[in-house]
Amino acid sequence: MSRAEMDIKKFERGNCDENKVFYQAMEEVIYSIAPLLESDPIYAKYAILDRLVVPDRVIKFKVTWMDDHQNIMVNTGFRVQFNNSLGPYKGGLRFHPSVNEGILKFLGFEQILKNALTGLPIGGAKGGSDFDPKGKSDFEIMKFCAAFMTELHKYIGPRMDIPAGDIGVGAREIGYLFGEYKKITSKYDGVLTGKPFMFGGSLMRPEATGYGVVYFTQTMLEMEGKEPLTGKICTVSGAGNVALHTIEKLQQIGAIAVSCSDSQGTIYDGRGVDLALLKELKLVRRVSLEEYVQKHPQAKYIPTQEYPKDAHAVWDIPCYAAFPCATQNELCEEDAHNLVTNGCVSVTEGANMPSTPDAIELFLSHQICFAPAKAANAGGVAVSSFEMSQNAAMSKWSFEEVDAKLKETMQQICKRVALTAKDYGVEGNYVDGANIAGFKRVADAMIAEGI
Ligand code: NDP
Repeated sequence: MSRAEMDIKKFERGNCDENKVFYQAMEEVIYSIAPLLESDPIYAKYAILDRLVVPDRVIKFKVTWMDDHQNIMVNTGFRVQFNNSLGPYKGGLRFHPSVNEGILKFLGFEQILKNALTGLPIGGAKGGSDFDPKGKSDFEIMKFCAAFMTELHKYIGPRMDIPAGDIGVGAREIGYLFGEYKKITSKYDGVLTGKPFMFGGSLMRPEATGYGVVYFTQTMLEMEGKEPLTGKICTVSGAGNVALHTIEKLQQIGAIAVSCSDSQGTIYDGRGVDLALLKELKLVRRVSLEEYVQKHPQAKYIPTQEYPKDAHAVWDIPCYAAFPCATQNELCEEDAHNLVTNGCVSVTEGANMPSTPDAIELFLSHQICFAPAKAANAGGVAVSSFEMSQNAAMSKWSFEEVDAKLKETMQQICKRVALTAKDYGVEGNYVDGANIAGFKRVADAMIAEGI
């Protein structure tokens, strides 16, 4: 039995239903870092793996709030402070009915390695609630955010833990959370990132993850000797922050993004998606994508429930490059098979862990350029870190300045990952390269800091 298999066995106790995604994320890392663990015994000596897979603490709390009809509502809030070896805990907040401790542990664990890959001084964390923002009024969102912060403020601080947004948490929610934090603590500090620009947010934070995804892909394609994205058909899933800004950057560089999706269905618009309409539907009116075809009858709307189970319409559209930007495990083996058969050359993960392990295996065995989330979507947290620097120095950077730093960061991450893969004998495997490079940076800090 190899070292990696022994480690997997050891952690199998964590494979209960709620922990399934956490276990999936952990398993990928353990297999990837096997060559590092086998070549350098120091990581086993200091029990780095055993220490890394257990969060420093999991904070779980009750959130009580009142809806617009005077009903008292109860939700559960969480903050998983996973590892702060490289800097204060940093990671987003997710508001979605599926949120539980296992999902946040998976996201927090990924966040440790992602933050390490940026080369910036930030640790890993994640948090959120099973609160469903869909269909809630603006006042209800405000009241929920205030109630959530009533508890959360005890555990966060600009040098301790700095939450940001994720699914269901954008600038509006961060604004309400910040307002309540300020009221409770009387402090005006950079305790949250992703704030609106008018009170301390960084320019380009909303765009950062999506733009970064495209910068990473451009660098990867160049390094792998593939044709650039300009003029190429690209498919994107999701219709939230990451998807919209991935589409925006693809359009800016002359690529043709022909799809997007939400939890109800997929849009295929062969002429290229109408981004202004998409923003109006999703950011302003917050309605279903179905309305897209009213304005563009040439486009096709495919309801999710009408598509065969175990596959997703968006990945059956022929493309040069695919960008899964919605949620975890949204691209399965059958989808990967469809992409490969249709001649797809590269897949970049905008969402966190959108591809299943079987799908990744298929991509790698077919020499598809595959960019894993923890490297490719690190642009969001990188600009969050830039926001922390601006807040600490009470300064503002221009859009161009942030964009240039983001681009440079994404190029560096891509090169670091490719180089690490080469160093450890798995050239072209960006999954192993990212896991080894991220793990090594955190592990070396943990060793230097003692137990
Ligand atoms: P948003 O809440 O802005 O958008 C999520 C989008 O995905 C929504 O359009 C949602 O549709 C859609 N969606 C959800 N589930 C499915 C599904 N099963 N099939 C198809 N579409 C689905 O979230 P973000 O864009 O911020 O986040 C997307 C992903 O990117 C997440 O994995 C997140 O963790 C990751 N990420 C986000 C970062 C950021 O800066 N925001 C940074 C790094 C990673 P609907 O509206 O119907 O719910």
